[in-house]
Amino acid sequence: MLLKNRLFTPGPTPLLPSAQTAMAAFTMHHRTAEFRALFSRVIADMKEFIGTNNDVLILAASGTGVMEGAVTNLTSPGDKVLVLTAGKFGERWRDLAKTFGCAVELISAPYGQTFSLDEIRAKLTPDVRVVYVQATETSTGARHDVQGIAKLVRGAGSDTLLVVDAITGLGTTHLDVDGWGIDVIIGGSQKALMIPPGLAYCAVSERAWQRMETTKTPRYYFDFRRERKAAAKGESAYTPATSLFAALGAALDFIRQMGAGDLVDGRKALIDNAELAAEMTRAGVQALGLKLFAPTAPASAVTAVLAPEGIDSSAIVKGFREKFSAVVANGQGEMKGQLFRIAHLGYYDYLDTVGLLAALEQVLSAMGRSVEFGTAVRAAQQVYARNATSR
Ligand SMILES: *Cc1c(COP(=O)(O)O)cnc(C)c1O
Repeated sequence: MLLKNRLFTPGPTPLLPSAQTAMAAFTMHHRTAEFRALFSRVIADMKEFIGTNNDVLILAASGTGVMEGAVTNLTSPGDKVLVLTAGKFGERWRDLAKTFGCAVELISAPYGQTFSLDEIRAKLTPDVRVVYVQATETSTGARHDVQGIAKLVRGAGSDTLLVVDAITGLGTTHLDVDGWGIDVIIGGSQKALMIPPGLAYCAVSERAWQRMETTKTPRYYFDFRRERKAAAKGESAYTPATSLFAALGAALDFIRQMGAGDLVDGRKALIDNAELAAEMTRAGVQALGLKLFAPTAPASAVTAVLAPEGIDSSAIVKGFREKFSAVVANGQGEMKGQLFRIAHLGYYDYLDTVGLLAALEQVLSAMGRSVEFGTAVRAAQQVYARNATSR
């Protein structure tokens, strides 16, 4: 059959058509009143998308750039920081913090699992300057208990900062940024926002701005205070990724429409969409006898599925690509070959979700697994129907 190229990867994700058109048509110069109006409108909308009253910064970078900024702006060499790690992105926090000379204390959970709050409580001494964690660990498909962690950090009565990499958490997971007291929350354009890679954003609390008055780690491009000053005038410190701002404006309009004109409702609808797609996918793969890699705390951003005994997940990934031109993600690092990952971030609908499961049945069958066609699809259909009647 004819093949359509489709991404099911947890970044980059499928592009919103109206955002692509907005980008393609965009020619504005960034030091103009017109662009300043777009910039300020996008920042205001992003506050609603993130769910915060804190300052929002949007930089031209991949997500890791702003992760780096969350280390350089908030720490001085020798500062004790607590890194919670349970996968490749947690390890990125560890590596970043070490690179800039922090004294890194680690709490690790095995890949596919999440943290013990008791262990965090025990290690959260008042001398910890910053806690770094992911909302959802994209490499394993696990969701971390940000609310529980925030309660411990805030409850400790110290001025410890909480920094959350929610690059795949935003738009897939309900997070009460200000209510829980998250000091810096980070996102990226190529995930739930349905636009290409190139923008990284964050919301920064007053407590975090105060910390920046005294921290000493060198920083230049990712100097958050400089960006805040420029943003107050509707500008960024350096040349912004102008066409991506146009795309982001269109994406936020789309999300607002999902909420019948209300962006906060639209954000909730986008999250509910990801949750339903994830639940359908989990039901489908499990009905085929496959196992989830993160069964105890599965994220709605991405579902990680263990390859069946004796099968390398690379062959499944290849099967999707060759048979259907569909791109699913292999395991990252040491997990390569063990699992494959299906994203639910952003622009996925019912047909994408059911179609991917039907394709999985074909891929496994072609590899010689005995598959009763319709098994995964039926399980997903039941989840969908149950959800539709419960509304
Ligand atoms: C995608 C992603 C990042 C950022 O990766 P970049 O390639 O730098 O955009 C960071 N953390 C998580 C959890 C991610 O999923």
